[in-house]
Amino acid sequence: MEMSSEFEWDGVLAAYGEIAIKSDVVRRRFVRKLMSNIATGLKSLGAEFKIRHKWSRIIINTPFVGEALSLVSRIFGVVYASPFKLVSLSELKDFIKSSSPKLLENAESFAVRVRRTGTHPFTSLDLERELGAIVKEETNLKVSLDNPDKTIFVEVRDDECYIFMDKFRGPGGLPLGTAGKVICLISGGIDSPVAAWLMMRRGCSIMPLFAYFPRGGDESDLKRFIEVIKILKKWHIGEEMPVYIYKHEHNLIAFRKIALKYTCILCRRMMYRVANELAKRTGAKAIVTGENLAQVASQTLYNLRVIDQASELPVLRPMIGFNKEESIRLAKKIGTYEASCMRVTSGCTPIKGCWARPPKPVTKAELEEVLELESKLNIDDLLNRSVESIRQLPDSYFKAS
Ligand code: ATP
Ligand code: MG
Repeated sequence: MEMSSEFEWDGVLAAYGEIAIKSDVVRRRFVRKLMSNIATGLKSLGAEFKIRHKWSRIIINTPFVGEALSLVSRIFGVVYASPFKLVSLSELKDFIKSSSPKLLENAESFAVRVRRTGTHPFTSLDLERELGAIVKEETNLKVSLDNPDKTIFVEVRDDECYIFMDKFRGPGGLPLGTAGKVICLISGGIDSPVAAWLMMRRGCSIMPLFAYFPRGGDESDLKRFIEVIKILKKWHIGEEMPVYIYKHEHNLIAFRKIALKYTCILCRRMMYRVANELAKRTGAKAIVTGENLAQVASQTLYNLRVIDQASELPVLRPMIGFNKEESIRLAKKIGTYEASCMRVTSGCTPIKGCWARPPKPVTKAELEEVLELESKLNIDDLLNRSVESIRQLPDSYFKAS
């Protein structure tokens, strides 16, 4: 993250967006959670800091400005963050005079933007002009109101003046942990980590669940999953994120024997059932997947309806309407893309795609047919084996390597 010059800032100021339009009670609760998420993140950095809420801004005083900035831009609810300097109104002009050469280093043109609240004998525009003239005198730079190389923002609130330059975009959305818990079925492919991130951005605390079905000792999917989780954990600030894995292989072996072209359908239904069981134990209120309409054979409307029927809880699919390139763009932004595309092989057989996938998976599944097939299997028994195999992966798996 590149900041303007080597300037000594007082800390980081964070602005939130959507939270501001909530009712009073909700807003207070959301702001409290936003602040506590930021504080949790800063504590984990071992940074010294003080945090307060003032004038719809979160103000963090800390000497670790770069670290705080990079943390705050991963906090859901934050729309932008800026390093700031706080001076009193009586010091403002002197400060601008002495600091503008440094603040505007390498710029050819500049603008000053003032926002003001409180009672003052001048307007924002008056102050903009006055400060602009001082800067021009000190630096000899061109004023450009339309397209300045750099802008000095000044927010005057009564006697306090916050000065900042660069606005670093945050993810926006709502504070993590304000919208309840969800189980995310995450494969380590491109879509499901993005789906999980989108739910986090809407305030959900997530619990990833991975269906483990290696064949011939190929752990590629598991490795990708672990790498992807490491990245998601960097965003999951302020709530625990337990990560679960369960054994799915015996299910696929059983399905393939009797239901070749229906294997994918039965597989998904089983994943949902296991996810529902885990949700019951953990208090999660929905299941999240990376399914995307018509991207692969198993994701037609017919099939989605048939697999949904196996889930008691709502199945949320934030990626349903995404185009492939949109998923990729977002995955790159989040940081999971590389891990999702990682080519890892172990054991003897590098496996392309899912080994259990039939040559021609059904695209128009019929619920009656699926129920008929399942009645020939001991689904409860298969499910029990999977549920009994659920275990939480220790944190040591996700330490930065
Ligand atoms: P992804 O990119 O997320 O793998 P996809 O478009 O490749 O999705 P599928 O592989 O058919 O689609 O999987 C559909 C969804 O099922 C995934 O998005 C994910 O939510 C879930 N899923 C698939 N494989 C696993 C797995 N091994 N463990 C947990 N969930 C899985
Ligand atoms: Mg996949």
